[in-house]
Amino acid sequence: MTLDGTKFVNWIRRANRRIQENKDYLSELDRAIGDGDHGINMARGFAEAAQRLTGSADQDLGALCQQVAMALLSKVGGASGPLFGTAFLKMAGVWKGKDHASVHELSLALREAVNGIKMRGKAELGDKTMVDVWEPVSRFVAEKAEHLSWRELCVFAEEQMDKTKPLQAKKGRAAYLGPRSSGHLDPGAVSSFFLFEALCETMEE
Ligand code: ADP
Ligand code: MG
Ligand code: MG
Repeated sequence: MTLDGTKFVNWIRRANRRIQENKDYLSELDRAIGDGDHGINMARGFAEAAQRLTGSADQDLGALCQQVAMALLSKVGGASGPLFGTAFLKMAGVWKGKDHASVHELSLALREAVNGIKMRGKAELGDKTMVDVWEPVSRFVAEKAEHLSWRELCVFAEEQMDKTKPLQAKKGRAAYLGPRSSGHLDPGAVSSFFLFEALCETMEE
């Protein structure tokens, strides 16, 4: 099952729809442990990314990913903009010149994305950030390889998102709350889940 340019564009457009529908929910999550703008930030960035890709004749996955990265870097602001932007920039590097990616090539791109997010944000697994979804998802895809089930990946990603609830934040704004940050989902983990859910649904189509 390969990801090509058409599927990539569908993925980002679907992710955008999911984020627009959940804009208020994401901001509400961020109001509990941050500054309440995560939905606004993500909605602005993904609307721009989806718009830039619509009608793009480009089939090069690297170039498409690069456009998403640029949209996110220029429009999102906040902590999450540079982090999601870096993730797509790293994936663009892996997919440069490719018009399709196998599951193996997806796992390579995700690995680089995770490395980029961690290098930029200095968060580790368990710090209650988007890393808590991205890193296990990346490992899951690498381990399952050609036996990957998109349905299973989606369930797995949601479980990782849910696991951020009891955690105490060690990075980002939520870390200022100390122990009071536990008992709430991490907003960036939730938006990351939406991104992977959209990928799984697009690949299943
Ligand atoms: P801001 O906190 O600047 O308002 P957002 O609200 O858009 O930015 O994004 C907050 C999300 O960004 C958090 O829920 C978390 O998932 C993620 N995040 C914040 N700091 C880091 C970091 N250092 N490493 C990884 N993810 C982070
Ligand atoms: Mg915020
Ligand atoms: Mg903010």
